[in-house]
Amino acid sequence: MKLHPSKPEHSKCPECGNEIASQKSVTAKRPPRPGDYTVCAACLTPLRFGDTELVAVSLADAPSNIRAALGGVIAAAKAQRGLA
Ligand SMILES: [Zn+2]
Repeated sequence: MKLHPSKPEHSKCPECGNEIASQKSVTAKRPPRPGDYTVCAACLTPLRFGDTELVAVSLADAPSNIRAALGGVIAAAKAQRGLA
């Protein structure tokens, strides 16, 4: 199924299949666009919005400012869940 790029909220996490219901870009204060990054709320996998779907990414491959932002979100989520 092709997803419309303006409706990434209907995307699913490629790692765990979690529906990304109201996901926002971690790196911008606007609706997500292709190239933006977010984190799966279920499995905490770093994800990048592609043209038609979410793509799992490695933090090591992200630009350093993105890596810092995503790392902070993941660390906060883990702490909230008692995993840190
Ligand atoms: Zn996931």
